[in-house]
Amino acid sequence: MKEQLVTKKILNWYDLNKRSLPWRKNVSQQKRQYYTLVSEFMLQQTQVVTVIPYFKRFIKNVPDLKSLSGVQNKKLLKLWEGLGYYSRAKNLKKTAQIVTKNFKGKIPDSFADLISLPGIGNYTASAILAIAFNKPYIPLDGNIERVLKRYLYLKKKKDIQKDNLIKKKSIFGISSRPSDYAQALMELGALICKPTNPSCYKCPISNKCMAFKKKDFYLKKNNKKNIDKYFLLKVFKKDQRYLLIKNTKFNFLKNLTIFPMEELSQPKNFNENLNIKLSNMNMNIKIQYSKNIRKFHTPYWVDEKKLDNYVLPSFTKKIVKYLEKN
Ligand code: SF4
Repeated sequence: MKEQLVTKKILNWYDLNKRSLPWRKNVSQQKRQYYTLVSEFMLQQTQVVTVIPYFKRFIKNVPDLKSLSGVQNKKLLKLWEGLGYYSRAKNLKKTAQIVTKNFKGKIPDSFADLISLPGIGNYTASAILAIAFNKPYIPLDGNIERVLKRYLYLKKKKDIQKDNLIKKKSIFGISSRPSDYAQALMELGALICKPTNPSCYKCPISNKCMAFKKKDFYLKKNNKKNIDKYFLLKVFKKDQRYLLIKNTKFNFLKNLTIFPMEELSQPKNFNENLNIKLSNMNMNIKIQYSKNIRKFHTPYWVDEKKLDNYVLPSFTKKIVKYLEKN
């Protein structure tokens, strides 16, 4: 296969500059597939530097697909604690169970099979096929998207629509080393074509880059709108312990342990005590202390001094920390 010049330049740069990441270790084909599955789930919505220690700890405790399919939920959530978006951990386990049962324990290598698995969408399926199976896919993550937008100087709303970007990524060509090439493009965006102050003087494709020619690196975003929501959060405290409940009410943080709370629609004179951002939801939270312990279906008392002993979402920990300071 004759590679385009842009492809060659990016791969040459990658060979010299790639980071040593724990999921890039030289391991057996089967391990590589498992490592890619776990790392791609962890990397959804989370940055590489944050994921590294979690990945290492996870692999040490849950070393293969078989152990993942049988791991206890409590252990799984403890290993995931702090990474957020806990549905990813649950979907990862479900995926391992389905692969064990329906695919003889082998992660499938077809797009259709992969996207039929929980927690795997178009992007993750493409990333697994490219990275783990060396198939010619270019997964369009935030890093590659940024390089593409700048390289082609895409600014108009219609040009930065996902569908258009998916078509335009063919500009990067196809490599005879698809696994390395997908990672090379991601790495170029992460290390060189950074969101602010791109290091164009180190970039292997600067000579054809439109943003570099125009000296305009501003990125037009296709932003999801932030939504403001208002919540009344109830604090019941007894002997330095807080009452928490299992969240079966809200779609966010589903089935996780939170303070009892209710959503208020367009409240008047709402003076929030704290503000927490969850994805694109801007949560304005007013705290109300109460002495009357009401009956809850699943009351759960946590000791404020022993927070690390519990599996709690960082959302709940942030609130406990706020309560301690105020
Ligand atoms: S030259 Fe600069 S803006 Fe263009 S792709 Fe490279 S790092 Fe990004």
